[in-house]
Amino acid sequence: MVEQVEVEQVVAPEDGKKINTGKLIDPEVVLHPEIFKWRDALTVDIGLLNSLKDGQIQPIVFRLLKDGKHELLVGSRRYFHQKLLGTPWDDILKDVREKVSERDALWMAASENIFRKDFSPWEEARTIESLVKKGRVKPKELAKRLGVSVSYIQSRRALMQLPENVRKRFEAKGIPIGYAVPVKKLKGMEEAQMTLLEKVESGMENQYSGIQTIEKADNFVNEVLKKVKDTEELIAKYGVCPKCESKKIVQSYRDDDALSCEDCGHDWHKETKEPWAYYEMKQNAEAMGFKVEEGPEKVKFTPREVAQMIEDKAEEEREKEEDAVEKIPEKFRSNIPLEGIVTPLLLENLQKIVVRGSSIEIQLIEDSELNFKGLKKDYKSGEKARIEVLTAYSMDTQDSAERIYAHIQKISPNQ
Ligand SMILES: [Zn+2]
Repeated sequence: MVEQVEVEQVVAPEDGKKINTGKLIDPEVVLHPEIFKWRDALTVDIGLLNSLKDGQIQPIVFRLLKDGKHELLVGSRRYFHQKLLGTPWDDILKDVREKVSERDALWMAASENIFRKDFSPWEEARTIESLVKKGRVKPKELAKRLGVSVSYIQSRRALMQLPENVRKRFEAKGIPIGYAVPVKKLKGMEEAQMTLLEKVESGMENQYSGIQTIEKADNFVNEVLKKVKDTEELIAKYGVCPKCESKKIVQSYRDDDALSCEDCGHDWHKETKEPWAYYEMKQNAEAMGFKVEEGPEKVKFTPREVAQMIEDKAEEEREKEEDAVEKIPEKFRSNIPLEGIVTPLLLENLQKIVVRGSSIEIQLIEDSELNFKGLKKDYKSGEKARIEVLTAYSMDTQDSAERIYAHIQKISPNQ
């Protein structure tokens, strides 16, 4: 009977094939829930099978439970290889212990494996986490017993506390386990954890890129944590993105008073929450002395409306102003109405407008030399504007005046 089963089973197992433990286990045996998960999946070892055929020398250690079942503590590889050979429960050489505490059970199993150095780093990490967490062994004590540093223990524990897909990535890419400690510091930030791992992987492939040291990984972690803290402070102070309610808000590069949304790209003024373009436009208009009415329906005021405001203001002031203006040669008079000049400027090319008494000084972004001065007292809506040249280099040369006059014509709408 025994002989028959043996023949059948020896033919079936293939070296390296995963063993179906659930199918082989005796009804008298239960697996220890912690100890059994330490090891990677059990696979067939033909060498071990053959040696067991010559006889089992070392007993398999079980703990006798109150219900009479035998809990497998030490020797699971040998036990399941015996079952592959078809050895009946009664014929297995065993050492059945009674009244073994949980802590002792864990120690016993760990000593058999981890201290004999036949564990993979992953099996070792699982064992260490079990011993500290379930066996209540202090990391310091464990470090001493294993002859390793406390930080060695901590990095393996950190690894086991990572989310499963992060941990799997360590294993799949062969990332050094020491990086588990900085990765764990980004708890709850899986995206940032993955970014850090990408950088470490890149550093493993190329010494000139990515992250190559734990110290650099720690720097990355500190940067991320600082950014999170900064964002939290910004949200506490100014709230979420007014457009999409995202919490990914950052200080804008545009201005100290501006915030930016990383999700929708919206920019706004910190305090008023007005869209930044509108806020800036309003500031410009206010700097020119115009009162801007508040309210969402006013958000859409156009450059042309601003130009109209400038003209109205000029009209108003014209009455009061004295004629103290130098004569400008006739040929430098623009034949373009004022709003025709101001509109394209406000649209995209305006750096600065200064209103001083009766004159408006305009500085453009596109050509930093191109500054000119319009004299409000000479303007009437639709009439020719008078342009006075104000360049940084050659303020009063004819050349410069002609060039700037040509430029103004170029940027003005077709009349
Ligand atoms: Zn947004």
